[in-house]
Amino acid sequence: TGSGAKDKVYTVGVDTTYPPFEFEEGGEYKGIDIELINEIAKNQGFKIKLNPMDFGGIIQAMQAGELDVAIAGMSITDDRKKVVDFSDPYFDAGLSLVVKKGSTDIKTMDDLKGKKVAVKKGTTGATYATEHADEKGYKVVQFNDSPAMFQEVSNGNADVLLEDYPVIAYAIAQKDLGLEIVGDRLNGDQYGIAVLKGENKDLLDKINKGLKELKDNGKYDEILKKYLGE
Ligand code: GLN
Repeated sequence: TGSGAKDKVYTVGVDTTYPPFEFEEGGEYKGIDIELINEIAKNQGFKIKLNPMDFGGIIQAMQAGELDVAIAGMSITDDRKKVVDFSDPYFDAGLSLVVKKGSTDIKTMDDLKGKKVAVKKGTTGATYATEHADEKGYKVVQFNDSPAMFQEVSNGNADVLLEDYPVIAYAIAQKDLGLEIVGDRLNGDQYGIAVLKGENKDLLDKINKGLKELKDNGKYDEILKKYLGE
């Protein structure tokens, strides 16, 4: 209804195990998504409260009315568009295959027969892996967060994982996880900020306006550069 909108604090679902987009460091939430949503809220004059949760629960929490917004390295997909409205895209991503460092037997999706493929619940990686499992003859195992999924492959319990390229590339550059990326990206997609479908037209307009302003005033580039370098 818009009354009292000025005092409204929007609850924002975030996946804080997802650097460089969202992570916790020294008791603070940091990352590209965190800075973007804070700057958007600032330039559009609304208040937010971050609500960290497993990625797999975010869309459901939105539908249950527990979240107004989600920014979580969330890829814009047709399936999700049935239940949420997305902002304009703000980042290009796409999936990569990742194996234990030094493994030589997996280079592409065609090398997965009889293998164990680790994915994170509710993600595009999980959907992609599940869709191809029968055809390629592998088993899919699901995890709640990316660190747990990474560990499963680095300790040899699973053979390969699917993760967004910018996330796994950042993680490997930050520290030796005992993992390596193989082959080309499996697909391309784009991240968007989500609001519950049809319910939050005004908020979505503000988010798009705010995002555009950050792109125009150089702040968007500054934030990306801070986390990703040149
Ligand atoms: N981009 C992927 C998706 O939308 C993964 C997001 C995430 O793990 N936070 O499903």
